[in-house]
Amino acid sequence: MFLQRTIRKRAEVIGIGLHTGEPTRLTFCPAPENTGIYFVRRDLPGRPAISTRADLVTATTMATTLGGCEFSVSTVDHCLSTLAALRLDNLFIELDGPEIPIGDGSAEPFLKAIVDAGLVEQEQPRRYAYISQPIYYGTDEKYAYVLPYNGLRITCTIEFPHPRIGRQNLDIDINEHSFAREVARARTFGFLRDVEALRSRGLARGGSLDNAVVLDSQEILNPGGLRWADEFVRHKVLDALGDLVTLGMPLMGHLVLYKAGHDMMNRLVRKILESPDSYRHIELGAELPEVSLDGTYS
Ligand SMILES: [Zn+2]
Repeated sequence: MFLQRTIRKRAEVIGIGLHTGEPTRLTFCPAPENTGIYFVRRDLPGRPAISTRADLVTATTMATTLGGCEFSVSTVDHCLSTLAALRLDNLFIELDGPEIPIGDGSAEPFLKAIVDAGLVEQEQPRRYAYISQPIYYGTDEKYAYVLPYNGLRITCTIEFPHPRIGRQNLDIDINEHSFAREVARARTFGFLRDVEALRSRGLARGGSLDNAVVLDSQEILNPGGLRWADEFVRHKVLDALGDLVTLGMPLMGHLVLYKAGHDMMNRLVRKILESPDSYRHIELGAELPEVSLDGTYS
């Protein structure tokens, strides 16, 4: 039986916010069974909390923002992606401000903090959303869909008319090992012309070559270059995995993406939730092997 999990003890990630450029601090805190994942704004009176549900996603430009009440939490993707890969079910994520620290633009700071703190299994079984019928969203130009699959698999294709990107494809079974090895270190990326436009609107103030891969019309501007030649598509897989958390339960299925970003992922997740005939709630039996994090990340 796969049981629900939370973090063993509190763990911190400190950094700056991508848009505000201000220092910010995040603390992962253990939560009881059947809680789910909540962000808590401890800087605000009454410490309001917000769930990570698809209907609370209010913005998907560049990164995913949760809001809908009197406050918001933005740039949640890389943090949530890590939780999906590590199969964390219950967690309070306390924040000092409206943004998650951007770190180096990848999921690595979150992965490291959680793995260092350790995970604990709880008493209740985890319930998965097991896709039983395909669900499709999109057009011929870009789309996202899920198919039945015994596991979590992502097939992602991107196409950018840029000499250093072009067409890239990644097909990967997601588990904590493959995530740590193949996905977690892939950084977010952006084009210099867009960065300049964002800055003029007061956004991306914290953005720099330390927390994103930046490209001009021909080249990569980061002195250290890329971590993989296809770092771009790996990051898209990272982002999509984070968006899947807004389903409210771990997905068992095969996610196929073509030129799909946060907005399309949000629409697909909403469509899944609106199609209860297309998935079943299941608990996995005891015959499946237990997964362990020991020695998989260093
Ligand atoms: Zn991202």
